[in-house]
Formats: sequence, C-alpha cells, structure tokens
Amino acid sequence: MESSQADTIGNMTATAYQTTNAFLQHAFELLKLDPSYELLLRTPCREVRVELPIRRDDGSIGHYIGYRVQHDASRGPYKGGLRFHPEVDLDEVRSLASLMTWKTAVVDVPFGGAKGGIQVDPTKLSERELERLTRRFVDQIHDFIGPLTDIPAPDVNTNPKVMGWVFDQYSMHHGYSPGVVTGKPIALHGSLGRESATGRGCLVAIREVLDAAGMKVAGTRFAVQGFGNVGSWFARLAHAAGAQIVAVSDVRGGIHAPQGLDIPKLVAHVEQTGTVVGFGGAKPISNSELLRVECNVLVPAALGHVIDGPTAREVRAGYVLEAANGPCTLDGSHALEERGIVAVPDIWANAGGVTVSYFEWTQNMQQLRWPEERVEEELEGHMVRAHEEIRRVMARLSCSMRAAAFALAVERVKSATDLRGLG
Ligand code: NAD
Repeated sequence: MESSQADTIGNMTATAYQTTNAFLQHAFELLKLDPSYELLLRTPCREVRVELPIRRDDGSIGHYIGYRVQHDASRGPYKGGLRFHPEVDLDEVRSLASLMTWKTAVVDVPFGGAKGGIQVDPTKLSERELERLTRRFVDQIHDFIGPLTDIPAPDVNTNPKVMGWVFDQYSMHHGYSPGVVTGKPIALHGSLGRESATGRGCLVAIREVLDAAGMKVAGTRFAVQGFGNVGSWFARLAHAAGAQIVAVSDVRGGIHAPQGLDIPKLVAHVEQTGTVVGFGGAKPISNSELLRVECNVLVPAALGHVIDGPTAREVRAGYVLEAANGPCTLDGSHALEERGIVAVPDIWANAGGVTVSYFEWTQNMQQLRWPEERVEEELEGHMVRAHEEIRRVMARLSCSMRAAAFALAVERVKSATDLRGLG
C-alpha cells in the first residue's frame, strides 16, 4: 500500500492524526465554534503504551508494543477496535480513536471513542503465540477497560476468536464480563449480524447516497480494495443486491473483470487459497491500479491513507465509499472534492460495525439475544437517520458530506460536554 508523499500541512507531511484534526478543524470553523472548545474536543483523554514480551514457540522472547488511546467519553464509555499490524503507532491509534468519537456521535450510539493496537505482523506468529500476546495485552490494560469504561472490538487482523480471548482474560481479572468486548463469537455472547455489520452498513450508506442522486445499487459498478471482514461482506451483499463488482484486491494483489466478478465463487476461492489472487476469468492488477479502475463507486476497505493527492486525481469513479478508516489523505480528500467526486465519509459509511457492537453490548448487559432480523432492522434505522441528519447539516452549512458528518458529530459531543459540565 502506498503512503502519501505529497500530503502536506504547510510544508510538513501530514500524519494520520493531523489529517483527522484538519477535518475536525474545518468543522469547528463551519460551526463558528468558540475556540476555547477546540483543544478540549481534539485532545485524547488518556494514552496507554505497554510493553508486551511473550515466550515464542521456539523458546525465544518476542517483544512487542501495544497502545490504547481513549479519546472522549462525554457521550458514553470509550469504544473502538483493536488492530494488529506492523505499522501501528501512537499517531495512527490517536487518529483512529478520534474518528471513533465522531463516528459514535454521527450514528448516535451512546459511546465515546477509543482505539488500540499492537505493533506486530500477526502472519509471523503461530495461533498460540497470538493468543499469548492478546492475553498479555489484556493483562497490561485491564485496569483501563471494562463494560462501563472502554469496550474494544475487532479491526484489521483481529477477529471474533481474538475477541473471545479478550473476554476470557478480562474475566479472569474482574469476573464474568461479556460486555467488556464486542465482535465475540456467536457461541460466546456475540451478536447475530455483527460479523457482516460493517459491510452491511456500507451498503445502506451507498444505497442512500445513490438514491439521493436518482441511482440504484443494482447495476452500479464497484471496485473494492481489501477483501477482509469489511470488503468481503460489502462485496457479497452488494453483489446479492444486483451490483457489479468489477475489481477486488487484498494484501497480495488484485483482480479485474469489467463484466463483473462472481462473488460467491470468489469467496469460495479465498476460503481455499487465502487470497483473491489467481481467481479464474479475471485479469491480475496491482493495488495501485485498482484505485484507478473505471467504475461508479470506489470502495477502499483496507488500510488508511491510500488515496493521496496524485491518486485522487486519477480516480475514475463518481463516488468514494470510505469503508476503511481514514483512506483519504488531506490532499486526496481536497483533490476528490475539486473533481466533484463525492467522498462518503468513514465516520458514517463504516459506522455499521460500531452500531451493531452497541447492540451486542446491550444484549450482553441484559443477558438476552436479539434475532438477526431485529439487528438488521435497527442497524438500517441508525444508518438512514444519520444520512438524513447529515443532509440537513449539508444544506444548513453548504458543505461537503465529510464536513457535515464532522459538524453533526462535533455538535453532539459539545452538547454532551456542556451538559455534563467541567466540575
Ligand atoms: P481485515 O483484517 O479483516 O481485512 C483487511 C483486508 O485488507 C485484507 O483483505 C487484507 O489482505 C487487506 N490489506 C491489508 N494490507 C493491504 C495492503 N497493503 N494493500 C491492499 N490490501 C491490504 O480488516 P477489516 O476489519 O476488514 O478492516 C478493514 C478496514 O475497515 C480498516 O480500515 C478498519 O479500520 C475498517 N473498519 C473495520 C470495522 C470492522 O468492524 N471490522 C469497522 C469499521 C471500520
């Protein structure tokens, strides 16, 4: 994945956190926010960095660093995913934690924002080593998380199995606590519909946006970068709704079929081989080429900062659906806007995951289980209401969808901050 070379604030390269803060600053200015709130709303409440030594299977010592950043809790307990990736660092985790604050506010679920991660390449660890690392991380942060304090969830390279270990390890310290983490396996207090929730929410988001432009999902052409939880579920559901998925990729490379891919067959291929690469009847392309494929909707669903200025100037789509967190750099976002390409912002587009995480937490706290139809119906309601509210703010402030989503979120977080008071 390329990182941005040309993305600047002044003459400095903008980091992920600076990019998020620049989007936030634009919202502050549109709202004419009292400047004394800016620092308060921008600054994370707590940042935890922990050393994670583990015994490797060969007897050697593996050494890793983990982070948990808690950004804001004025609207409810901190909430946000846990990422295992070699490029995890404090700046990225801060940025992602801040995005969670604004995301939970946009879809109006009663949580704040947090994020965590371990700087590790999980493909280099055995499953037993990964379990030891996860449990070690929980041992180090268990005093800072909890069902009413901070609730982790899956993100890049973490899954229901990892969330099950988090639940178990936390419960060893604090007693039975299924509400401490979401995205758990169904057999271990997980929610029906959580696994597909982010992809499903993305589909609701683009359906609403296309609908407002007089278009339909059926027959629309999508290119999807990333075929993990979010990208593969989005592709499956969009294909089932009649969309044409013309290109997909993963960390190993991409495939392109202008006539549309058979997604159920591709899913079976990925189950067998672990990658989209080598799928019959499609032309191989690179990840960089995928971002420039001719389509109606480009869907970055992997890592952040992939659409920088130069890439954005070559995008051949009318819409960018931000299924990943922070896929556009600042210059990338400006270039898309200048070209009239609509960015459907991450803090709304991919909020289906945290919305169903909220339903999972609610079920855990009440010790009951909702049927899948209820999960899907309530998810739909949160996404559609957020779209209506974003549209109202776009009209009121004459701004882009991204700026409106941030402005809506800032108004909600500021209001909760004011009502709680500073003591
Ligand atoms: P995942 O680990 O399940 O899948 C990630 C996918 O990206 C994989 O297909 C992987 O091969 C691919 N990938 C990794 N590095 C790549 C590279 N350099 N180039 C191209 N592809 C690459 O992760 P996920 O949970 O699907 O998360 C994807 C994105 O969605 C992330 O930005 C995450 O923060 C965001 N997100 C996830 C959730 C969720 O519920 N899982 C919710 C909201 C947002």
